[in-house]
Amino acid sequence: PKHLELHGLTKVYDGSVRAVDDVDLSVREGEFVTLVGPSGCGKSTTLRMLAGFVEPTEGTVEMNFTDITQAPPDKRDVGMVFQSIALFPHMSVKENIAYGMRVADKSFTESEVDERVTEMLELIEMPGYEDRMPEQLSGGQSQRVGLARALALEPEMLLLDEPLSALDEKLREHMQTELTRIQRELGVTTVFVTHNQEEAMTMSDRIVVMNDGNFEQIGTPEAVYNQP
Ligand code: ADP
Ligand code: ADP
Repeated sequence: PKHLELHGLTKVYDGSVRAVDDVDLSVREGEFVTLVGPSGCGKSTTLRMLAGFVEPTEGTVEMNFTDITQAPPDKRDVGMVFQSIALFPHMSVKENIAYGMRVADKSFTESEVDERVTEMLELIEMPGYEDRMPEQLSGGQSQRVGLARALALEPEMLLLDEPLSALDEKLREHMQTELTRIQRELGVTTVFVTHNQEEAMTMSDRIVVMNDGNFEQIGTPEAVYNQP
């Protein structure tokens, strides 16, 4: 897992919308940090700058003290999961999970692919699902396959953008537990985005409260939510 640092990170859209305004953060190896705050406060933009999909207007992103601000997404060693899972509908579960391995610079043998897919299906507790098609999966299962796809290349960093918000409440609770278990098991440094305080409380090592592009508060769940 990797250490992550943001210094003076800023994104101004269209010359005037300060979506993220000069934020600093240090995330230690294996830590689970959650960005929480109302819609439009800049959570997604922050995460997209970490992933390399949005170019910062100012500031830097460092992983293990190497500046990766200008690095393209596929050179960052990150796995990302979005709110809408968007599995490839015409590909089996196996091919969905293997997708990153198929397109990676490094080439993998078929037996390496098989082995990794089997491992990932065990991790998400769906052994034997290799040949299912996405339309045959429940919402929770699709979400877990999306997570397996993000983890298949063994990223050092996991970025999660509201991955549970499309699920109904019961399944969301179950997936909170699952995600926490998987994150602990792999020890992967994780940045999680949610507008759900309860989710932030139960899952995080630390919480960053965002408002209007700023990091207003950074602390443990207890420190952030149990103020005197
Ligand atoms: P959140 O994830 O907390 O809902 P976002 O990062 O999506 O917040 O958005 C932060 C602000 O930036 C909002 O005012 C939003 O309208 C604006 N914004 C987001 N993406 C773009 C974009 N591609 N172009 C212009 N403005 C954007
Ligand atoms: P789904 O089939 O809707 O995708 P999952 O596959 O995530 O749900 O559920 C895996 C297992 O966990 C199932 O046996 C399911 O009954 C159980 N389960 C689902 N939600 C909960 C929950 N909130 N608490 C306890 N067990 C749950």
